[in-house]
Parts: sequence; C-alpha cells; structure tokens
Amino acid sequence: MKDGYNRSINYLRLSVTDRCNFRCRYCLPSKGVEWLKHSDILSYEELLRLIIVFNCEGITRVRLTGGEPLVRKGIVDFVAAISKLKVLDDLSLTTNGSLLAPMAEGLKAAGLSRVNISLDTANPSRFTQITSCGRLDDTLRGIESALAAGLTPVKLNVVLTEEFSNTDLAYFIDQVYNFPVNVRFIEYMPVGGQGGNGPSIAEIKDMLNAAGLGQLEPAAVDIGNGPAKNYRLPESKGAFGFITPVTDHFCVNCNRLRLTADGKLIPCLLSDRAVDVKTPLRAGASDEELAELFRQAVREKPERHCLCRTSGHSDFGHSMSQIGG
Ligand code: SAM
Ligand code: SF4
Repeated sequence: MKDGYNRSINYLRLSVTDRCNFRCRYCLPSKGVEWLKHSDILSYEELLRLIIVFNCEGITRVRLTGGEPLVRKGIVDFVAAISKLKVLDDLSLTTNGSLLAPMAEGLKAAGLSRVNISLDTANPSRFTQITSCGRLDDTLRGIESALAAGLTPVKLNVVLTEEFSNTDLAYFIDQVYNFPVNVRFIEYMPVGGQGGNGPSIAEIKDMLNAAGLGQLEPAAVDIGNGPAKNYRLPESKGAFGFITPVTDHFCVNCNRLRLTADGKLIPCLLSDRAVDVKTPLRAGASDEELAELFRQAVREKPERHCLCRTSGHSDFGHSMSQIGG
C-alpha cells in the first residue's frame, strides 16, 4: 500500500515485548519506565492474525524487536508459526545478542532469515557501563552462534555514544575484514535516553579513511529499502553501513510501520501518533476493520520527522524500547 507521499509500505517492525534484560543508557531511562502488564501485550495468536491481515495490505517483510525479543517465552515457536504462514518474503529479528547463543540454531530451523545484533563497544567494562548490566562475552557468543547457524547477513548495530573509542573502531574494522558481517554505525537519536556527544558519522568516515585501509566503495548489502548507506573496504568479507536518522534523514524512502507490544500501530518512530489495534481486535473486529486501521496508520505517516542533533524530541512519549527502535 502507498502512503500520501507515494512511499510503498511493505515492512513492519513488530515489538513482541517492551521488557528488556539490559538498560542501555540511550534507550531505556534508568527510572520511570513501567513494564506493560502481561494482559496488555498482544498474544502470539493475535499477532499471527494481524500479520495475515497486514500482509493482505502489502506487508511482506517483518522484523521482530522489543524490548529484547528473546526474553519473551515461546519466541522460537512464534517464529516457526509465522514461517508456516508462508506469506512473508523476509523474517528477521533485532536483539542485544545476550540470550542468542543457545537459541540461534533453533531460530534458524524455525525459519528466521537473519539477525541484527546491537554491539556498541568491544570493551567489557564499557559494554557493561552502556548496557547497565550486560556482559560482553554473552553478546559475542551470540554473534558467533548467529554466524554459525547461518542467520546471515549478520548486522551489528553500533550506536555512536560518547563511550565510542579508537579501539572500538579497530575492533569493528577487524570484524569487517575477517567475517561476513555488516557493521552499521547509527547516529544516536536524542529521544529521552542519555549518551549524546558521540562521534558523528562524518567523523567515523574520516577515521576510517585515515586508517590507511583503502578507499571505501559503495556496496549493496541491504534487502529491500534499508536506511543504511553501505560501503566495503578492498578485500573485506563484510561491509560498513552508515545510518543517519538525524543529520541526513531517510524519510523520503521510509517503507515501514511499527506495531508496539500493546498493539499500537506507529506511523513514524519519532511521532506520537498511534492507532490502537488491540482494543478493536479484542472487541471482535473483523479482518476488514483491522485492515482499515492499518490503512489509517499508513495515511497518518508524516512526510518526515523533525529531529535534529542538538534538540531532542520534546513530546516523544515513549522510550525506544517501547517502540522497538
Ligand atoms: N533489544 C534489541 C536490541 O537492542 O537490539 C532490540 C530493541 S532496540 C530498541 C532496537 C535498536 O534501537 C537497537 O539497535 C538499539 O541500538 C537502537 N536504539 C535504541 N535507542 C537508540 C537511540 N537513542 N538512538 C539510536 N538508536 C537507538
Ligand atoms: Fe534493551 Fe535493546 Fe534498548 Fe538496550 S537497546 S535497553 S538491549 S531494548
């Protein structure tokens, strides 16, 4: 389905939980966030029905997210149930990787195509500092398991915070040279968390160019209309991606809607607009009525967001973890 700005909406980021076992400084405030009640979270059966209805409206790609999607019980069976529908072209998942190692093979067997894993630093103590409680080793094991299970291309999401260092850059260069991973540097979005003042994407590009590794060359690694601009270094197995939601927003190509764990369709990550699907769904709405709610959310997609590097989004009413990033 096309929105009012002629963008085809075919991608749904589906948050299966608002809960998380980490508290990344830039995502989840340390205080003041209350978890949703279990009864407010859409059941897997409800989510499957919505996927079928939204697929008829043009959604062919789904990314499972959270909170941390792997903390929700039954997630592997849910992946299998989505795959069984055989309606999607692409089913992926974004995770902090901490619980992934023992689940990677099962997720692949259940039909998951690939994973994005958040990893902002390769330094154990800075990792724990950023995530509040995470252990670097768990996430590194998750990455290894994802590669071994074939959940590829594995993409590493690196939010550029003030903790980012030259040592981290050297680690990510090494990963890109030696493994088929796509390391994506993401600008920090000032939407309620802490962690600004990290390097800009332009500074990261300068650091890469100054490292004497050869010229970055544009590379096509994204499936669909991803926001990253991707580049390879000569002879590297993997690639770098640069995601600039703030300094060079990609709204003109936006192809996505988000569904929160409590059943709200969010037309734009950085807007407070939301279309409640859960209440009508639980009140017995027909497929056509649910489809109309989807169409309403598509119609409500704004042309672009208005976030800039120095000013945050003052009326952003959610943490990133509640929307799924
Ligand atoms: N827990 C999973 C994870 O961390 O990958 C999935 C949910 S998380 C909200 C999804 C993505 O949003 C992660 O890659 C995370 O780094 C990113 N994110 C969260 N807060 C952000 C912020 N303030 N600026 C930029 N990216 C952010
Ligand atoms: Fe949790 Fe992911 Fe947010 Fe970190 S970025 S607090 S892992 S939801």
